[in-house]
Formats: sequence, C-alpha cells, structure tokens
Amino acid sequence: LERTFSIIKPDATARNLTGAINAMIEAAGLRIVAQKRVKMTREQAETFYAVHKERPFFGELVDFMISGPVVVQVLEGEGAIAKYREVMGATNPENAAEGTIRKAHAQSVGENSVHGSDAPETAAVEIAQFFAGNEIV
Ligand code: ATP
Ligand code: MG
Repeated sequence: LERTFSIIKPDATARNLTGAINAMIEAAGLRIVAQKRVKMTREQAETFYAVHKERPFFGELVDFMISGPVVVQVLEGEGAIAKYREVMGATNPENAAEGTIRKAHAQSVGENSVHGSDAPETAAVEIAQFFAGNEIV
C-alpha cells in the first residue's frame, strides 16, 4: 500500500475542521496511520516548502503555515498519493470540484485547508520530516 503525507493547515484547525476533514479522508478509503497536532517553527515551514523558495508567495505561505497549529498525518491506501490529491481538489478552491475538501472548506488559494504530497519521492521526504518509522502504525 502507498503512503502520502498530509497537513491540515492553520485555517482549518482554527475553524475546528479536523474531524470533518478526517471524515472525508476516511470516506475516500484512506487510512490515517499517523497523526499529530503541532505548531511548526519558521525553520520547519521553510524546510518543508523549500521547493517554493523562489515563488512570490513564499513569505506569505511560511507566515500562514506558522500562524497556528497544524495536524500532520500519514495516509495509507491503494494509490494514496493520487487519491488524496483528488479528495483535496484544486489548489484554488474556485477551481475545486464538488465534494472535495478544498471546495467544501478552503478560503483562498493560499489558505486552502490541506496539503498532500505530489509524488512518491516527496511523500517519503515529507513523512520523514515529521514522523519516525515506529510512529506510523
Ligand atoms: P500543497 O503543496 O499545499 O498540497 P498544491 O500542490 O495544490 O498544494 P502548490 O503549487 O504546491 O499547490 O503550492 C503550495 C501551497 O502554496 C498551496 O497549497 C498554497 O497554500 C500556496 N500557494 C500556491 N499558489 C499560491 C498563490 N498564488 N498565492 C498564495 N499562496 C499560494
Ligand atoms: Mg504542492
């Protein structure tokens, strides 16, 4: 089974949506095999989003990700990476399909409620940034 890394972002934890989002994840057939609520440090957020360092929204993105608690998760299932991106919906909620997390809950292209890994290599790196092997069960 494949694993992907998920973050329930500060806009969603602030609105008490962790349970609602987890219900959508589980309804899609993905299993939450690791989960914790953390407040990221600036350094953790900069490392996590290093691929976006040169983008104009990088500073805003890091400020947002450390503005409140997040829930970091590992999700497991068949084709988990692609499946979770389907459940999340498009980055910009205006373009997100009906029934997706971002359509239901995201507030803007920046404050878009969830993150999901985009490839097996990034999933492995992202999972290892937040979880030890024995925390994933
Ligand atoms: P994520 O990586 O969080 O799962 P994604 O893969 O759909 O989302 P990316 O292009 O990787 O989108 O962008 C990473 C994150 O940066 C987005 O989820 C969003 O929070 C933020 N972001 C992307 N584009 C913009 C933008 N134009 N303005 C502000 N923030 C943005
Ligand atoms: Mg991305």
